Amino acid sequence: MKKIVIIGGGFAGLSCAKILSRFSRSLGLEVTLIDKSEKFNFLPELPDTVGRGIRPEHLVNDIGQFARRFNFRFIHEAVDALDLDQNKVFTRSGPLNYDYLVIASGSETNFYGNDAVRKYAYKLDDAVDAQRLIGSLEGKERYFISGGGYTGIEVATNLRLYLNRRKIDKQITIVERAPSILGPLPQWMKDYASDNLKRLNIEVLTNVSVEGIEGGGVKLSNAGVFDNSLLIWAAGVKTADFVQNLKTEKNPQGRIKVDTYLRLKDNCFVAGDAGYFAYRDTFLRMAVQFAIVQGEHAAKNIIRSISGRKLIKYKPLDLGYIIPMANNKSCGTVMGINMRGFLPTVFHYLMCTYRSYGAGNKFGILKDLVTGGRR
Ligand SMILES: Cc1cc2nc3c(=O)[nH]c(=O)nc-3n(C[C@H](O)[C@H](O)[C@H](O)COP(=O)(O)OP(=O)(O)OC[C@H]3O[C@@H](n4cnc5c(N)ncnc54)[C@H](O)[C@@H]3O)c2cc1C
Repeated sequence: MKKIVIIGGGFAGLSCAKILSRFSRSLGLEVTLIDKSEKFNFLPELPDTVGRGIRPEHLVNDIGQFARRFNFRFIHEAVDALDLDQNKVFTRSGPLNYDYLVIASGSETNFYGNDAVRKYAYKLDDAVDAQRLIGSLEGKERYFISGGGYTGIEVATNLRLYLNRRKIDKQITIVERAPSILGPLPQWMKDYASDNLKRLNIEVLTNVSVEGIEGGGVKLSNAGVFDNSLLIWAAGVKTADFVQNLKTEKNPQGRIKVDTYLRLKDNCFVAGDAGYFAYRDTFLRMAVQFAIVQGEHAAKNIIRSISGRKLIKYKPLDLGYIIPMANNKSCGTVMGINMRGFLPTVFHYLMCTYRSYGAGNKFGILKDLVTGGRR
């Protein structure tokens, strides 16, 4: 019996478990998936819970149900540490041995060690965070979003939709430490997004950062303290602590550098956001499309390794990306074609609905999108 342990029940971990469990009987595999959460979270639509009214409960699935349906074992525990030499995974309830390991623990919000901000700010790592944010939106004087990347922009536009629907006229500000929003993306996208943010009356401050929290208010690097303001932190992500603690090559976010077969070592694969895959002079960005395919690829290579066959190199297929903005003026590149306006918005939601799990959730998401979440 070969013991395979998968850490993380997100896109990468679940797609890996589904493939491996098909071979449980024929190859004698014992597949165990460990996740610190009982729920799978469909992250790409978390910002839409704010403005478009997608209900957070439509963005989660029970990992235990997947386990029963696909016949793998699920352990609801946080992984604290790994011993890659002894083939052991450590959780609070003790060590777990493995023959093959898949690290698919994704990424989480990075507060860069600022505990005051961590306590004060809202984040969007899962549906529980979304629920907490939605419950705190009213009665604020100002709204700050730290980080002018995809998520920050998407959240800001959703927030404007939320406030407009309630006829609340308050300032929304994106605070970006770098000289421009959307980092390395093409200039036309930055211009398009900037124009749209202006149209939505969302202020963008560049070369400015959130310095901290003072007396219960947000302190910016270029100004005083803003009391009674709400801060959403979308200024970066990092990998889980147990990944950060591994002594191996990583990028600044702590993503593990993998080889062309998605391996860290012979019996340890990494899939999804937790891994760093060199691609076209840079590395693959974090995205659902890569996480799903990498999870499947790692599973197939484990099966090949067990059967004594040659492993297959992972060759990424990049279908493109979209920056969704809640007033239906999105922009992006799909299969090499630059798009702006309503069409990329439609593509984004079609893809999200297709990739979400369960007919109930798919229907719920579509219904919420059409009705704006009104019951
Ligand atoms: C707000 C937001 C919007 C996004 N929008 C898009 C988008 O529009 N399009 C797109 O392609 N991508 C988008 N992304 C990125 C995309 O969601 C990720 O690339 C994708 O989820 C990565 O999948 P994964 O399986 O690697 O990790 P995840 O989906 O994050 O799953 C990781 C799992 O590991 C578990 N885990 C973590 N640490 C531990 C531990 N110590 N022990 C046990 N379990 C652990 C977590 O609980 C989680 O279930 C977005 C992300 C966010 C946060």
